[in-house]
Amino acid sequence: MTSRVIIIGGGLAGLCCALRLHEAGRDFLLLDAADAVGGRIRTDEVDGFLLDRGFQVFLTSYPEAKRVLDYDSLDLKLFEPGAIVRLGGKFHRIADPWRRPFDALGTIFTPIGSLFDKVRMMSLRSSVLDGSLADQFRKPETTTMDVLRETGFSEEMIDRFFRPFLGGIFLEPELATSSRMFNFVFRMFSTGDASVPAAGMEAIPRQIATRLPKEKIRVNTRVTGIEGNAVKLESGEVIEGSAVIVATEGDAAAKLLGTNGTKGGVGVTCLYYALDKAPIEDPILILNGENEGLINNICFPTRVAPSYGRAGRDLASVTVLGAGHNEAELERKVRGQLTQWFGDVVASWKHLRTYTIPYALPLQLPPALAAPERDVRVRPGVYACGDHLDTASIQGAMVSGRRAAEAVLEDLV
Ligand SMILES: Cc1cc2nc3c(=O)[nH]c(=O)nc-3n(C[C@H](O)[C@H](O)[C@H](O)COP(=O)(O)OP(=O)(O)OC[C@H]3O[C@@H](n4cnc5c(N)ncnc54)[C@H](O)[C@@H]3O)c2cc1C
Repeated sequence: MTSRVIIIGGGLAGLCCALRLHEAGRDFLLLDAADAVGGRIRTDEVDGFLLDRGFQVFLTSYPEAKRVLDYDSLDLKLFEPGAIVRLGGKFHRIADPWRRPFDALGTIFTPIGSLFDKVRMMSLRSSVLDGSLADQFRKPETTTMDVLRETGFSEEMIDRFFRPFLGGIFLEPELATSSRMFNFVFRMFSTGDASVPAAGMEAIPRQIATRLPKEKIRVNTRVTGIEGNAVKLESGEVIEGSAVIVATEGDAAAKLLGTNGTKGGVGVTCLYYALDKAPIEDPILILNGENEGLINNICFPTRVAPSYGRAGRDLASVTVLGAGHNEAELERKVRGQLTQWFGDVVASWKHLRTYTIPYALPLQLPPALAAPERDVRVRPGVYACGDHLDTASIQGAMVSGRRAAEAVLEDLV
């Protein structure tokens, strides 16, 4: 029997799994249905601009990323901490609510964040930084919204800041996502920076892939079934392995494993525009605090990393929650809202592309997140990893991939 381990899926989970096996000298074969590895982290070049497939950021504090990635060669470009919030027809700056709540939030005389909110932010900060990350996952679980309300934040603070900020991370505006995910996100923002690699987000999975032997990665290869320790491909070919690791998205994993399925996923839509000059020049996230219109957040990636642009022109990335929109209608409405925010100059912005991503993140409603040391063994010889089994994040995907590899290494001595 072959000793080769088969990994289905070459997103960050599958790649980190392969890397750990490779480091341990274990043979593997990674199969991915797409035309390249990277999974949900891909970057396209369009008209000389770098377009990530959906707006996303890399948090430098992710512990697994610190262990695995070479940050210097990623040439990370940092966002300014905090955000600018659109509210009442104006833009308001929040400096760094996660690390410096007292300086960051407006005073009681400004529209975002009262004095009480600052105090609550300080106490929440101490609580999410307390103990290890694993300790955070052992805390009682409720929804993010319940935690915010129980902590006593004002409804204004929730609606104007938390809802668009966290809604843009969880990709759902109700903030029904597990409080453990909120603790995790708060902790990561409190201990590091949001960034993008100069060459686009895809540079992250690409860096891992370059450490793996090319001949052990097969793209354009869809797996349609698992039988024992073998996988069946769409082409009809059957490949035997000593173990099979399913590193696909949650829904695809449920199909392949014949399990009852996951809780499903949440979708998002991202529109990109090319423009002469960004109306906000700082490398910062802009949130919609008005609770009106389709835009959740916007950013000008070229202000964070000029390499995302071309010939001194700027790029705008607009995030709309949900994925079922009619694209032409959506573009018209988004342009209308952008015009209200930035004026008639928006007429000159060139729409480059719209990405509709039906499954961007696994839904993480409570009870969702067990302690991170959840077992990755599905049945003898079959394992699973991916962000749906950990926090729905780059960190979650990376760590779950490594843990699946370690379980295989432990079992196949
Ligand atoms: C728009 C968007 C914004 C995000 N924002 C952030 C953010 O700001 N910060 C953050 O940390 N995370 C963010 N994330 C989440 C992060 O990108 C994911 O958690 C992570 O990339 C998931 O990696 P994965 O390996 O678990 O899954 P995936 O990347 O989905 O990889 C699964 C792979 O399996 C392959 N596959 C599926 N079925 C088959 C099959 N039958 N046969 C062979 N191959 C198959 C797929 O082609 C894919 O390559 C965001 C995600 C999206 C989409």
